[in-house]
This record gives sequence, structure tokens and C-alpha cells, in this order.
Amino acid sequence: MPDHDLALRSTRIVTPEGERPGAVLVADGQIVEVVHPGDAPLDAEDLGDLAIMAGFVDSHVHINDPGRTHWEGFETATHAAAVAGITTLVDMPLNCLPPTISTEALSAKLAATDGRLHVDVAFWGGIVPGSEPGIEELHRAGVMGFKVFTCDSGVPEYGSFAPEQLPGVLARTAPLGVPLIVHAEDPTTLAAAARLVDPRADPRAYGTWLASRPPEAEDRAVAALIDGVRTTGARVHVLHLSAASALPLLATARAEGLPITVETCPNYLTLAAEAIADGATDHKCAPPIRDRANQDRLWRALADGTIDAVVSDHSPSSAEDKHLEDGDIMAAWGGISSMQLGPALIWTTAQRRGFGLAELSRWMAAGPARVAGLRHKGHLAPGMEADLVVFDPEAGWSVDAAALHHRHPISPYHGRAVTGAVRRTYLRGTCIMRDGELLETATGRPRRRDEV
Ligand SMILES: [Zn+2]
Repeated sequence: MPDHDLALRSTRIVTPEGERPGAVLVADGQIVEVVHPGDAPLDAEDLGDLAIMAGFVDSHVHINDPGRTHWEGFETATHAAAVAGITTLVDMPLNCLPPTISTEALSAKLAATDGRLHVDVAFWGGIVPGSEPGIEELHRAGVMGFKVFTCDSGVPEYGSFAPEQLPGVLARTAPLGVPLIVHAEDPTTLAAAARLVDPRADPRAYGTWLASRPPEAEDRAVAALIDGVRTTGARVHVLHLSAASALPLLATARAEGLPITVETCPNYLTLAAEAIADGATDHKCAPPIRDRANQDRLWRALADGTIDAVVSDHSPSSAEDKHLEDGDIMAAWGGISSMQLGPALIWTTAQRRGFGLAELSRWMAAGPARVAGLRHKGHLAPGMEADLVVFDPEAGWSVDAAALHHRHPISPYHGRAVTGAVRRTYLRGTCIMRDGELLETATGRPRRRDEV
């Protein structure tokens, strides 16, 4: 029996490979062994039928800190994460000011985390036109990879690259071995769709927004990206895939062995365009939430492995920027706030569709960790950091937006019935959350690529 400072036993130890009874042994913040129930040490705490799983990893979160902390911030975002059992966040390089496109900006961000992280946070760097000369230095400073847009980013300080410019960017990131993560919608297709939208169309109608962001925009940008990967060999990750029509292209590219990974989000997997009321600006994100048939195809792609990860794309703004008062969807900020709900939303629907906790862990822990290059996160196995959640898969509850820990109580899921509650969250072996309450504060650390 290895030395340990924590031992947890349960009938349901979950790894991406499956579930089994046993005990997890932790020493110095790391998992040292997973043993059979008969070999559990006498001091193991018995959690009965509550599941023990790897902490969830959310590799797509806009924390907006520093600079737009009236939208979100490190303290509020990591508090929400700890309560949801998300033990690692990877922060997006935009919507904060300055955007994380230089080592100076990364230093400003690290300073903003000081004493305010309840879970671990790693960082994506950004590339905008003109910032390319700083890529290598920012890579050395420890970002997990680099983000670009192929269309308007929504904020003026973060420019985009047209799809035909992508090979030039890919040629620069390829030797670094980290992913270029891409918001993939083709700007020409979007502009053409916008011209077709009747200028007298109701700006409060969800259909107006949907018509302005057709699936072909995703298809074309993804196709351009695949061509770029083929010519440069660079690693690429497709962010927040919404259009199921792009899946066959991606499946073919992966079958060819191209280094492409794909994520989608709870918004696309649990909300459907048919049910979105006009004026419901809390449902606006880009690419948009599409119809139920599209949603079914995304679930099938998760099952067959074409989609690697489910992450939140938590992108909040103030109530004012979200146009909650007038319901103007066309004018509202395009981002959904709901990171804290991700695991419960996905578990609720996954269960109904016949999936188990192993899949939940694969999509929301191991998958995002692999995409972001977090080698010691997202997996319940010896040698991994002891980020664990104690999960009650049967507990039902109802979403109250005002009870979430995000800065703004805005959520398209308000009032929704969900199943699955995180009873405890362990970060590197320390229990930081129990039944919704933080037990330890500021235990989180900013993490660099080479040490996580
Ligand atoms: Zn995003």
C-alpha cells in the first residue's frame, strides 16, 4: 500500500474507460493508485454509491479579466467552476483588455489572478493581424496554444484573418507543436447572408439571427482550415462547432490522420432553435443554436468520436450589453453565460440518450484536457493531479440563475430541471467545495504549459 494522505472509496470510480468499484489514493496532490475494493486502506472514506470522477476541464471560458471585469472576473468565474466540479479552466485571450496577444498582456493577466483563483487556470494566447512577431515569445511564456478568428470577433481590439490567410498563420504555429484554435465561420458567407436578411425583419426574432449565420459559413471555414492543416501539418482545434453539416468533412480529415480536434458546447447540445422565443437574447451566441435535427447529429458525432470535447464557451456580458430590456437579439452581445451548469446539463441529456458517466468524463474532462495539452489533468489515473469530483448522478434540481456564482445572473437555462449534482470538489488533493460551499479559497494556481 503506497503512502497516502487521502483515500476515497466508492462503488463507482469513473474513468473514460468505464466504471468500477474501488478506492482512489492520493499523496502530495497526486493520484498514486486506484485499488480494488478489497485492497482499500482502512482509513479510506466510504462514499457509497456516489461516483468519484476526474475534475471537469473547461478549455473555453472568457473570464474577461483584466479590463472587462464588469462582465466576469477570475474570482467569480473560478468560484462558479469550483461549485460545478470544474477544476481547470483555460481562459480565452479576448474580451479581456489588453487581449492576451503579447507577453506584457499575459503578465497583466497573471497579476490579475493574484489571490483570486479557486481552481487552476491556464491560458490561451491570441494572434491578431500584426501580432505575429510575438508568437514565439508568448509560446515560451507558457500559453497552451493560440486563438484566431476567421470572422469579426465581436470586439474591436481583436482582429481576424480571412480563411485564405490561415496557411500563413498555421506555418508559424506548426513548429511550436501547440494547437491553433479557430473560431471558424467564413466572413464572405456571413456577409452574403446578412445582405439577404430583409432590412425590415424583426431584430427581436430569433429567426433573424439564425438566418444571418448559416451553416455554410462553418462548412466553408472548416474546409479552408483542413486545407491549411494538410499543407502545413499544424495542429488545429475547431472551436464551438454548431453546424452538423461540417461533420463529414471533419470525420474524413481525421480518418486521413490530420491533427484536427473538435469541440461543441452544451448550448448546441441541449437547446434548439425551434424552442427559442423571440426577444430571448440570453440564447444568442455565434455560431448560433440550430435546430433539433442538427442537435441529434452533434450527439451522434460525440458518440462516434468525431467531436472530442464539450466545453462551455462561457462568454458573459452585462445585462445592458445583453439587451435584456428591449430583447433586440441582433444588437445583443453574442455570448452565453452558463459555465457552472455544463456538467449537469450534459449529464441530464446524455443519460436520456443512453450514455454513461464514462462518456461524461471523456467529453468534459479527458477530452478538453487533451485538446488543451493539459497532460496531468482530466484523467483519474496514477500520476495525474488529484483533481476529483464526488458526483451524485441521481440528484435532481432546478436551475435558478440568481443562485449561480457568475458575475451576472443571466442564463438561458433558468428554471430548467437537471439531474446530477457535484457534492465535493478536490483540487490537487484538497477538498475545496462541499455541497455548494467553498471550504478553501484561493487554492487555485495559474498554470504554464510546461508544468501542467
Ligand atoms: Zn468563445
